[in-house]
Amino acid sequence: MVAVGISLAKPVEVVTSAEGEVFDVELEVNILRENERLAEENKRRLESKGVHAVDVMGSVGSGKTSLIKSMISQLKKDLRIAVIEGDVTTTIDSDIISSEGVPTVQVNTGKECHLDANLIRKALDRIPLDRLDLIFIENVGNLICPAEFPLGSDRRLVVISVTEGPYMVVKHPMMFLDAKVVAINKIDVAAAMGVDPNKLSADVARLNPKAATVHTSCRNGTGINDVIEKLGLKNR
Ligand code: MG
Ligand code: ZN
Repeated sequence: MVAVGISLAKPVEVVTSAEGEVFDVELEVNILRENERLAEENKRRLESKGVHAVDVMGSVGSGKTSLIKSMISQLKKDLRIAVIEGDVTTTIDSDIISSEGVPTVQVNTGKECHLDANLIRKALDRIPLDRLDLIFIENVGNLICPAEFPLGSDRRLVVISVTEGPYMVVKHPMMFLDAKVVAINKIDVAAAMGVDPNKLSADVARLNPKAATVHTSCRNGTGINDVIEKLGLKNR
């Protein structure tokens, strides 16, 4: 297969995943199917308790934790909130979030680069669901495989930041298909980075016209309320 890169003079050879993964296709299908079954279970469990769950996706350094923290500080007077923090290792993010005084569970995935529904099931066992309205689930910082592992949440927030360059959306199309809201973060430094946030918004709109795009800065508070509103977390 040959693809033509926009900025390249010559056609580039491309190896596609369809060519080389015969050995583990069956195993992978089974894992994804089992994950979907557990995600449905988590979803029903949350619904039965009247708890909403937002899963938050984005690369390391995009600002997921800061955005969650900013939203919690706005929402916690009206809603009972908990956070599940996914990370390969460390409790850095949980430590930041717990300063808001909400229950936080850290899930360390070890070698895995994504959360899965089984890990979330175990995390839910450690959270007082009867006394909650809302859970934020921060996924491992990676915009690729988390898209394939639904967790049982009822809405998704994707966070990208202008510091990650101009191609974050077009290079990770799968991640945006199920997003309810996309936050384009750190817009206070967009000019310095030479990245046009409106172009990123347009890329999102092309992939998923239903997603709401909000320009945010956790540093100066821009857009935080808008994200909360577009996620449908206000006046419930
Ligand atoms: Mg984080
Ligand atoms: Zn992964």
